[in-house]
Amino acid sequence: MAPKEEVEPSPEGDELYKIRHSLAHVLAQAVLDMRPGSTLGFGPPISDGFYYDFVLTSPITEEDFPELTKRIKKICKQGQKFYREDLDAEEALKRIEEMGEPYKREYGAELIEKNNLSSLSFYRNGPFLDMCQGPHVETTKEIPRDGFKLRSVAGAYWRGDSKNIMMTRIYGWAFETVAELESHVRAFEEAQARDHKKLGRELGIYAIDHDIGKGLPLWLPNGTIVRDELERLAKELEFKAGYQRVTTPHLAKESLYHTTGHLPYYEEDMYPPMELMESTEVSEIDDIDGIRQTEQVKEAYRLRPMNCPHHHKVFDAEPRSYRDLPLRLAEYGQVYRFEDSGAVSGLLRVRGMCMNDAHIYCTRDQIKEEFKAVMAMYQEAYDILGLDNFQIRLSKWDPEDPKGKEKYVDDPENWATSEEMLEEVLVELGIDFRTGIGEAAFYGPKIDIQFVTVTGREESVSTVQLDFAVPDRMGLKYTGSDGKEHVPYCIHRAPFSTHERMVAFLIEHYNGAFPTWLAPVQVQILTVSEQFDEYGKEIVAELRQNFVRAEMAPSNDTLPKKIRSGTTKKIPNLLIVGEREVADGTVTLRRYGQNKQETMASGLFVERLVDAIQRRSATV
Ligand SMILES: [Zn+2]
Ligand SMILES: [Zn+2]
Repeated sequence: MAPKEEVEPSPEGDELYKIRHSLAHVLAQAVLDMRPGSTLGFGPPISDGFYYDFVLTSPITEEDFPELTKRIKKICKQGQKFYREDLDAEEALKRIEEMGEPYKREYGAELIEKNNLSSLSFYRNGPFLDMCQGPHVETTKEIPRDGFKLRSVAGAYWRGDSKNIMMTRIYGWAFETVAELESHVRAFEEAQARDHKKLGRELGIYAIDHDIGKGLPLWLPNGTIVRDELERLAKELEFKAGYQRVTTPHLAKESLYHTTGHLPYYEEDMYPPMELMESTEVSEIDDIDGIRQTEQVKEAYRLRPMNCPHHHKVFDAEPRSYRDLPLRLAEYGQVYRFEDSGAVSGLLRVRGMCMNDAHIYCTRDQIKEEFKAVMAMYQEAYDILGLDNFQIRLSKWDPEDPKGKEKYVDDPENWATSEEMLEEVLVELGIDFRTGIGEAAFYGPKIDIQFVTVTGREESVSTVQLDFAVPDRMGLKYTGSDGKEHVPYCIHRAPFSTHERMVAFLIEHYNGAFPTWLAPVQVQILTVSEQFDEYGKEIVAELRQNFVRAEMAPSNDTLPKKIRSGTTKKIPNLLIVGEREVADGTVTLRRYGQNKQETMASGLFVERLVDAIQRRSATV
């Protein structure tokens, strides 16, 4: 089935929806005409056009698009009228049978059965008949013939299930005017060029190897530099804010996840258990010779899907008093989630990821202050990264949700007070936010930070969550000033999200041109000819003494070729060195994306660059 977010909602009266929907039918009509005997899957309108799924008698590729487009335009020109026909259930299934459409029949029968329908509706235009709810344009003449463009061919499983047959999906864009179409296609191409999978490969950021496994990225040297720099920034911000770092293993006994409540609810998102025999000491029957008696016990381990339980155990490793609170434990922690094979993609949907995690254990009275400090850290981090196009959402539970008992911890009083607290935090900080009902975590409300990416995609990059349930489930305690035991509250936060998500996001945000402090290669020296290499190497050496990632450009290229190659690699600072520079002890700086060059004393350049890197400035 169509990915849910792609399908346009509530179509009534929307002209563009009718155009797109009608185009899907016309596309199917044209394909059946070109490939007689092919059968149909689904063919809905989507947010920028339409698609249709086929089981083809012989393949269609993008090379067939001109011919297919011609046929579509011809049908549009003919002004075929769309007729609606309602058939009672039995007759409808007979009709689909006659059409020779096994997939439509399967779906039709299911619709009737599930919804107890007495009839199904069909739409006919010209010779083409489709089981369909509409709505459509009056005639195919109403479809703007220059407002659509076939986009691509892709594989898609029938009903989105990898156990089913793989169909051929043909996508098209459609708009009311050619101008809208063209501007959309331009934006799409721009997004393609920025795609982190394409740039990630070109810039040597990461690789996926099928011997390692799906969704398990290998971070290449350049990508590792970006990760390390982000991690260093996170560590500095956390250090300043009084966090302590911990290091915990990537796996734990399965029983832990029963205690936390993650199992069985999150089982689908976790790797299956690793079962092993563990020898356990049976100390009470130590024999006289001092040889310890052991017993073989079966244990199951799980790769961890999140770091929280491990951090809770760190909290629990020592007796805690109110004087220890707030206790802020931080770790860039590796976690594993068994994402559906069809969903795994690039760095955005992975099965192994490293999260900028921290858990803050505090008393009820400390929650607001801690949340404020976390929000300030988010703001500082995003300012440094130059990210400002985001929205804040306060995600609450939905007390009306009929399935609420399964989805949320049943504690209305805590929900009410903690949601109120978070709302007060946002109001007191003067932060604009909207409210999302039913978007909370199972253990408490959260604040989500949602970015609009440069390519217009909306993405939830990070969250801050308040947890009033799991510390209790895990038996966490501290001694209060009253001498009694209390359960701490826990704040989960991850401003830099996971390395995978953040780096994918930043590659697209910067279009691969990282600011100097984050760039894998910060400076490249381009000598006009080999005779100046020695001077170039001295500058490289001085920069490296200052921990600047500097290198010489390959020496057998001509200068224009070196400039082109350094620009393709999106290196932020190219230093040109020739006769004049050697004579004067200068360098000529060419910044990425700027044609203006600037000559300065080499010592001054080093000083300016080191300072800019230290400040993580966007410019030098
Ligand atoms: Zn339809
Ligand atoms: Zn957590």
